[in-house]
Amino acid sequence: MVLPSEPEFEQVLKEITTTLQPFLKRNPEYQRALDVVQIPERVIQFRVTWEDDKGKVQVNRGYRVQFNSAIGPYKGGLRLHPSVNLSILKFLGFEQIFKNALTGLNMGGGKGGSDFDPKGKSDNEIRKFCYAFMGELSRHIGQDTDVPAGDIGVGGREVAYLFGAYKKIRNEWSGILTGKGGDFGGSYIRPEATGYGLIYYVAKMLETQKELASFKGARVLVSGSGNVAQYAALKLIELGAIVLSLSDSTGALIARNEHEGFTTRDIEQIAEIKLKHQSLTSFNIQANANESRFVWHAGARPWTLVQNVDIALPCATQNEVSGEEATALIASGTKLVAEGSNMGCTLEAIEVFEVGRRTGKGIWYAPGKASNCGGVAVSGLEMAQNSARLKWTPEEVDNKLKNIMETAYANSYEVGKQYSSENLGEGALPSLVVGANIAGFVKVADAMRAQGDWW
Ligand code: GLU
Repeated sequence: MVLPSEPEFEQVLKEITTTLQPFLKRNPEYQRALDVVQIPERVIQFRVTWEDDKGKVQVNRGYRVQFNSAIGPYKGGLRLHPSVNLSILKFLGFEQIFKNALTGLNMGGGKGGSDFDPKGKSDNEIRKFCYAFMGELSRHIGQDTDVPAGDIGVGGREVAYLFGAYKKIRNEWSGILTGKGGDFGGSYIRPEATGYGLIYYVAKMLETQKELASFKGARVLVSGSGNVAQYAALKLIELGAIVLSLSDSTGALIARNEHEGFTTRDIEQIAEIKLKHQSLTSFNIQANANESRFVWHAGARPWTLVQNVDIALPCATQNEVSGEEATALIASGTKLVAEGSNMGCTLEAIEVFEVGRRTGKGIWYAPGKASNCGGVAVSGLEMAQNSARLKWTPEEVDNKLKNIMETAYANSYEVGKQYSSENLGEGALPSLVVGANIAGFVKVADAMRAQGDWW
């Protein structure tokens, strides 16, 4: 029984359970695997006390959900955000199990973090928090046990502090975190990987469908303005697409002219602002002072603000596209939706995209666990490089990332075709969410059965 106090986890469980139905109908014995896999192997909760710049004690909640280790060490990011609670980390950890399986690498699923809010904190306070957090986390992780990484609120600076803390506590240099600095074990392309990987995945979708020829001239809505959104936007610009929006928790920034979106220089400036945890309005003030190229919509998300759209890429956080917004995206001509965020679309939005296709009204949708698996995939490549004590070139890593994304796409496409045609009709593009969920689940369930976790 799932407690009703875990709404995000219940939501992901409902999504997985619903999409697994066509598979479970043909293979009812796997219902037992679903009962077992939805309970984390271990949940660690702890207290984090740290000293702020005034010398005062501050206290936060720390967590690590070690969800599944059937196909490799627990692997998944750490999120630092005031909204963090066990429901959110269980949803993220559960998603991570199947996402990691789709990369084809040996990684189990886990997630962790704290309700610590990095916004407005000094560098000194961030360091003190990271050291205090690792004081407890260091007892539970290891390069063959559990390998955390970044997520919302945790980037290169935080990973470096956490890594330094672990090394001091354990007197040991080992690849216990990914997303490290390039000079101390980090992989090339790790910062870019989630955003680039998303675009490589969408490139495969573009090849398959018939409505859009390529990225060239495609009008793209991107939400968010953190790591994933920034690198997705940069890759889109490189490929000739027009990036018409970015957003953050305070609002959405929309290009005034639909033929001229964000430039590479804009994205670089936004990256600098975001590193300082400032709002996008700081960029807008600068940009508008110069050229009046953008319109700021306070408190809004991009989905209802642009009339002609080709592709929508939610890259901010969970549940950032509602059912109504999904309907608005379809009305504005959107042909593809792919998530850079985890569970970016609500169940209602997925319903609008997927069920709508039965009557020719929906659009093709890629779930985050397939389309954003590039980040954790390059984390897996970082683990491999650390174990081998060597470093691959950027080209090598980028090529491997491309291959992984293409395989994840092929897997979700083929398995989707096997199991969604009776619902969507012959000839319809297969459901990638059905395909990704079944492909990921079967791989993990089979490994669990082989190891005696269910029978
Ligand atoms: N936080 C990222 C994700 O949601 C990456 C995790 C990792 O690299 O371990 O997949």
